[in-house]
Amino acid sequence: MSTPQFQAGLDLLAQPILPLIRLVQLLFLTGPFDTIHEVVAELNEPIETVVRYEEPAKALAPYLDLMRDFERLKAPRSADYSIVDEAGEPLPQMEAIDLWIAQHVVSRELEDINSLLCGPCHCALCCIGPSPELHQLFFEIPLKPNETTLFPLPTLDTPETRQLTPDSAHTMQVAGRPFYEHEGPALYRWRSGWSMILPRNATCPHLLTTEACSIYPSRPEVCRKPQIFAYILDHAQENSAASQSTPLATFQATRKILAIWDCPYVKRFQNEIAAYAELCELEPIFKENKH
Ligand code: SF4
Ligand code: SF4
Repeated sequence: MSTPQFQAGLDLLAQPILPLIRLVQLLFLTGPFDTIHEVVAELNEPIETVVRYEEPAKALAPYLDLMRDFERLKAPRSADYSIVDEAGEPLPQMEAIDLWIAQHVVSRELEDINSLLCGPCHCALCCIGPSPELHQLFFEIPLKPNETTLFPLPTLDTPETRQLTPDSAHTMQVAGRPFYEHEGPALYRWRSGWSMILPRNATCPHLLTTEACSIYPSRPEVCRKPQIFAYILDHAQENSAASQSTPLATFQATRKILAIWDCPYVKRFQNEIAAYAELCELEPIFKENKH
């Protein structure tokens, strides 16, 4: 792998947008602004924070919709989420909004970065089930309901599948055998939603030759996100105090960037990924997935 092919992705890693977004939030809070848009409209000169942004307003444009949540601090309206700390206690509003925006901004930015770094690797690890030497018996590719039509595969949606998940203690049986022992990929509707299951050595039906996806422009959302993730928020445990007392979606603050070590570009660019996380004031975590 030569570095020039990765340069566009590395350039984005070296210049995360989150420090600039945090500066905009500060200017909004301390200045005579009613909207985030008013702040951004004034940022037409280069700005240097922990990194230098030559055209800050242009760099911020793809994230304006996400940043508007911060306007709730000046024009109060209710949120449809709640964020708690490790003890399950709700965070102050300003910190909660900052983390909510950070989770969505970093997710959006990493989608571009992951695509730019994955392409030159000519790798299909994410599209193939576990090889026999791994202890995992299957891989799960979660799908949104409208994404299932992308996959012309055997489908199982029964009262039993809807009560279980792929990891339930009681393993879903199909024709007297565990679901993952059947050959080839299949779609299942679990309690947790739809997913494509790739048993050992099975390949996604859209994997062409050894390394190209035949539906790349319309591939499911989950296929756009490997293998560096925003892990700034996590779904809170259902038994946390906040999740029991409120009907809002509840998340726990984790403040991390998670990178999966099996991926060749994560291994190769570990230092750059760690630096990206640190510029965002997040903790980088490297984790093995397929083992
Ligand atoms: S849809 Fe494309 S990217 Fe997603 S698993 Fe299948 S081949 Fe891979
Ligand atoms: S493991 Fe990494 S390089 Fe390989 S297909 Fe997945 S994201 Fe791309």
